[in-house]
Amino acid sequence: MNYYSLNQQSPITDFRNATILGQAPDGGLYFPETVPVLNREWIRNLKNISREAIAYEVIRPYVGDTIPEDKLRTIVQETIDFPIPLKKINDSIYSLELFHGPTLAFKDIGARFMSRCLGYFAREGSRRVTVLVATSGDTGGAVASGFHNVEGVDVVILYPSGKVSSVQEKQLTTFGDNIHALEVEGNFDDCQKMVKQVFTDKELTSKMFLTSANSINVARWLPQQFYYFFALQQWPFAEAPVFSVPSGNFGNICAGLMAWKSGLPVKHFIAACNANDVVVKFLETDHYTPQKAVPTISNAMDVGNPSNFIRILEIFNRQSGEMKKVLSANTTTDDRTKALIKEVYKKNHYLLDPHGAVGFDALDHYLQKYPNDKGIVLETAHPIKFLDVVEPLIGENIPIPAAIADTLNKEQKATVLKNEYSVLKSYLLKIANSNL
Ligand SMILES: *Cc1c(COP(=O)(O)O)cnc(C)c1O
Repeated sequence: MNYYSLNQQSPITDFRNATILGQAPDGGLYFPETVPVLNREWIRNLKNISREAIAYEVIRPYVGDTIPEDKLRTIVQETIDFPIPLKKINDSIYSLELFHGPTLAFKDIGARFMSRCLGYFAREGSRRVTVLVATSGDTGGAVASGFHNVEGVDVVILYPSGKVSSVQEKQLTTFGDNIHALEVEGNFDDCQKMVKQVFTDKELTSKMFLTSANSINVARWLPQQFYYFFALQQWPFAEAPVFSVPSGNFGNICAGLMAWKSGLPVKHFIAACNANDVVVKFLETDHYTPQKAVPTISNAMDVGNPSNFIRILEIFNRQSGEMKKVLSANTTTDDRTKALIKEVYKKNHYLLDPHGAVGFDALDHYLQKYPNDKGIVLETAHPIKFLDVVEPLIGENIPIPAAIADTLNKEQKATVLKNEYSVLKSYLLKIANSNL
């Protein structure tokens, strides 16, 4: 399988290069030349196939011959070595719990797959790779956990001092070893700006092999298809489900659409958005107008210009009419999100996190119009990650899951960094020199 740049100004390349580069040299996102079509009989038989075999079958064509079969089977197996259960909330709404991985958010799946692929490519090329990532909270933890002790890879995480939650800071700063946490005296935009500057710095890029681990990387994006198949495996009805996907950068829902294009039976997709509603407006007006991100309580979806939306356009050959047959969108206020967390907990004894609650609202709206359908909300994070919001609403303490109890007791280690590019550069040069 080859990948082309959606800006059309870079040569096509294979999975290995697309993963190492992250983004095409022309600044475009990579997109596969063809979408594989899965065997219909195989899809009908999903319930009798192991999760590992499903995931392997789905990702194999995308990886091509850049990773040998036995190695890819191991990578897939390690990526999904935690449960992804489908739980009933009410008669027509189910929750696919994507938060049982090490950092309790769905980003674990993409980060674990990508880290293992990159580790493999680094060892093959016998060059140490340095992964640079700026985080506003969730991404850094998933990336740190995914890359911890992966041979041949160093990870440098920049996070804004005082602006991540205490659980998130623990997840960023307690790994040590090949994971370097930098606490930047600035905000998230400052962190992101410095990371971008690194990639244009000729001295650094000639001395070290740098890449980024953000969500546009094909190795983070494509494995997110896995759990749409796992959902179908557990789906108790004959009719295909509607998927409601809490969306920010639109990578997750875009992966679902790829799975559908490959033949997975899905009735409809709903992009569940908070106040950041660029795509909702696009579907109403056919005009795409990026906005400044608005802060909300479902903060992992506070994105004003979702980078993966262009991939969704590509899936539908830029025909918005075709897109609207399969995809709709909904926007939910913070007040409604809070009310729903309370209501669903009381009525259905199911605790949603703010992102899942936005997804629930979108699906609930849809089902009022189509009462014979049934659907699945992707529950993208564990409510404990947002305990400041959730606990006061339900008036109870949330028990701390075993996956993070350990992390919370570990010692934090971060290097405080002035918000100055030259300071970051000296730090990276030190890493470069120690790798010689
Ligand atoms: C990142 C994230 C999202 C948004 O996912 P996208 O792929 O960017 O649309 C939703 N919920 C949570 C908890 C997240 O961390």
